[in-house]
Amino acid sequence: MKHGSTNFDDRHHGAKPSMIILHYTGMQSTKAAIDRLCDPASKVSAHYVVEENGRLVSLVDEDKRAWHAGASHWENIVDVNSHSIGIEIVNPGHEFGYKEFPEKQIDGIIELCLGLIQKYKIKSYHVLGHSDIAPRRKEDPGELFPWEKLAEEFVGLWATSREMDFEAAKNLLNDKKIFQENLTAFGYDPKAPFESVLTAFHRHFYPEKFKKGEDPAKMDLLSAARLQALVRLKNTVKT
Ligand SMILES: [Zn+2]
Repeated sequence: MKHGSTNFDDRHHGAKPSMIILHYTGMQSTKAAIDRLCDPASKVSAHYVVEENGRLVSLVDEDKRAWHAGASHWENIVDVNSHSIGIEIVNPGHEFGYKEFPEKQIDGIIELCLGLIQKYKIKSYHVLGHSDIAPRRKEDPGELFPWEKLAEEFVGLWATSREMDFEAAKNLLNDKKIFQENLTAFGYDPKAPFESVLTAFHRHFYPEKFKKGEDPAKMDLLSAARLQALVRLKNTVKT
C-alpha cells in the first residue's frame, strides 16, 4: 500500500543503500504513527512501515533519503540516512506499553528485508537497530525484537560463540578498553559513552540480560564471547 511522505531529500553524494535500519514506531496507534511520518512539521519519515498484521506501507521511494536515523554513527558513516533503508515497525514502544512483536509482523519484516538484501547486496552485519547507530538517544526496536529469529532466516548477523570466543572473551572482560575497541571494530560509535554502547549491544545481541533483570550496562563472560564471535564473523563473512 502506498501512502506518501514529503519528508525526504536526495541521498547525498549519490549514495546507494548499504544498510537496513529497523525502528519501532513508539506511538499509541498505527494511524498516529503514519500521520506523524507524513506530517511535514515532524521532519521524520521512513521508507516503510510494517503493521502488526504484517501489512506493508510504503512512504518514501527507496532511491530517496528518508529521515529516520537522525544523529547517528556506524563504522565510518555518520549520514546513515543517505546509506540506508529505514523501516518502522508498529509497536507502542517503551513509552506506551512495549510488547512482543506478532509473528505475522515478523514474517512481513523478514520478507521485506530479504528483498532489500538481495536487491542492494546488503551485508548481514549491516542490518541494524536504531539503538545500534544512536546508542545515546535510542532504544528501538528494543530487547523484545527477535533478532536471532531473523538471522535464522538470513536477515542480519547473529553471534554463535565458539570455544575460542570464550577464550578470547577473558581478555575483553579483564580490560574495558579492549571490550570498547571490539565494539568499535564491530561498528559502534567510539565517541558514545561505554555504558550506552554496551546497553545497545546487549539490547540487540544479548536480550536475555534484560529478561533476567540484570544491569544491561555491565559486561559479563557471555556478552564478551558474543562480541568476540561477532567481530570474528564480520571479518570472515561474505554476505
Ligand atoms: Zn527509531
